[in-house]
Amino acid sequence: MDADGNDLPGDEDSPNVISAATASRLWDKFREGAGVTCPRDDGPLAVAVDGAAKAYRLVCTSCGMASPWFGSSVTGIAVRGPSPTLVPPPDVQRESD
Ligand SMILES: [Zn+2]
Repeated sequence: MDADGNDLPGDEDSPNVISAATASRLWDKFREGAGVTCPRDDGPLAVAVDGAAKAYRLVCTSCGMASPWFGSSVTGIAVRGPSPTLVPPPDVQRESD
C-alpha cells in the first residue's frame, strides 16, 4: 500500500515544483534534523541557501524537483517567489546608439 500522500489539493499544476505546503512540511522535518526526501521519487533533497536574501530552497538531486524560494520563521515558511536575488541586476542596461 502506498501512503505517500500524493493527493495534496492544489499547487499541482507544475509537476516539477514542490508545493509550498509540502516544502513547509519537509522544512519542519529538516530543521528537526530528520532526513528529507523528494516527494516524487524519494531522492535526496539538497537545501540551497541564498545568504543575501536569507532564503532557502529544497532541490531534489535526483529528479530536479524543487520548491520555491522561501524564508524561514518560527511559524513556518514564507514563500519568496521564484528567485529573490537571482534576477538580473537593474543596472544592466544596454546603451543604444
Ligand atoms: Zn526527486
